Amino acid sequence: MTNPIIALQRRYARLLPGLHRHLSRRFPQALWSGDPLRREVALTFDDGPDPRDTPALLDVLARHRVRATFFVCGAQLAAHPDLGRAMAEAGHQVALHGYYHKPFLNHAVAPFLNELADLRRLIADVTHMPDETIQDVRPPYGLFTPPVLDALLRHHYRPVMWSIVPFHWHQTFDEAVAQVERQLSAGALIVLHEGMRAGPDVARLAEAVIERVRDAGLSFVTVEEMWAGHPSGVIEPDRPKTAWRRAAGGVR
Ligand SMILES: [Zn+2]
Repeated sequence: MTNPIIALQRRYARLLPGLHRHLSRRFPQALWSGDPLRREVALTFDDGPDPRDTPALLDVLARHRVRATFFVCGAQLAAHPDLGRAMAEAGHQVALHGYYHKPFLNHAVAPFLNELADLRRLIADVTHMPDETIQDVRPPYGLFTPPVLDALLRHHYRPVMWSIVPFHWHQTFDEAVAQVERQLSAGALIVLHEGMRAGPDVARLAEAVIERVRDAGLSFVTVEEMWAGHPSGVIEPDRPKTAWRRAAGGVR
């Protein structure tokens, strides 16, 4: 018999495209995708750093000269600060996921704001980036409530969702790549996951995704750069848009 959690996740994965259309209209303040006229795609990785996956991903990204965005977990980053530093030194954006990967569904918003502040401080320490440049937040499991969203915006965080999320830990390599190909369009915001111990190797998958994106005539941007095409006005005009380009080290 199929594991009920896996069955539920598969069902959720099938519902996601419809849910995405509905939620992106309902919550336009979050970044769901980029401006299609810019023909740009953001490649993002959740749940790292991970001692097995991060070094392999950094190799693939360097080889293909792609700058990505890593939404990291505090507990993982505290355990592997060298990997977080390597992300930033290679010119990638390091953004906020959660400290303990708990869903942001708490109506008392103080606990998750404290959690985010702790994670932001940790990222700033590890990457030597100024605190105020670390604003992009992807809520764990993509779950938030309207009060949580309001609190994020009030505290100058920028909520980031996605347009393509293969549940690759339940897929074969070919299924995951086929899903990305099917859903790929200009402005796509793609999420892959680090630290999954099932399904295809994420670095190999990232390499295939990069090739498909380039074949489609699209180029890569970080999430921070993707905000520039967002109509919400959440982005602050006086903020340097290239903060994370600082230590590019040969990677664009
Ligand atoms: Zn996650």
